[in-house]
Amino acid sequence: MLRILHQIFRTGIVTEPLPREIESEIEVVGAKLEDAILKRFRRSLTIRQIDAGSCNGCELEIHAVNNPIYNCERFGIHFTASPRFADILLITGPVSINMETALKRTYNATPPPKLVIAAGDCAYDGGVFGKSYASLGGIGSIIPVDVYIKGCPPSPSSIIQGILKATENTGVSNPRICTGKNR
Ligand code: SF4
Repeated sequence: MLRILHQIFRTGIVTEPLPREIESEIEVVGAKLEDAILKRFRRSLTIRQIDAGSCNGCELEIHAVNNPIYNCERFGIHFTASPRFADILLITGPVSINMETALKRTYNATPPPKLVIAAGDCAYDGGVFGKSYASLGGIGSIIPVDVYIKGCPPSPSSIIQGILKATENTGVSNPRICTGKNR
């Protein structure tokens, strides 16, 4: 135990801090998000992430949203493995033919408000994959979408902005487009 503590103190903090402008942007967006989650979602917003056919680039950025630097849990955001507990579906990739049924079933299994965020250029309109023998194109062609986050892949701060837009979007019929910054 003492050896481990000694090693922790000797090593210090090894992660790099966020650039100051991103840090302050995240603080501002995070404060709004925390407020929206407190008012509309009783302090806790639960997200189910679905990979509908992405190259995994978007997933890496979503992982970063959860890492100790962006640390989305401090704003009240949690990820779940089941759509039954989800307020938001965060979907990446074009819809591959093999994921169409799973995506529809997941959408149907999600309780209201059933907000849908399509993250990345592929989720917007099929991106580099487009429509083909294996791909059905953007998420909006299969299920209703509330917010699109553009970017290939979108940066973690764009993803957090998109989540904020979705929490403000309840009751709006047209999807919003969040022009995300590329990573
Ligand atoms: S938007 Fe870019 S990073 Fe995301 S799944 Fe498509 S190609 Fe990959």
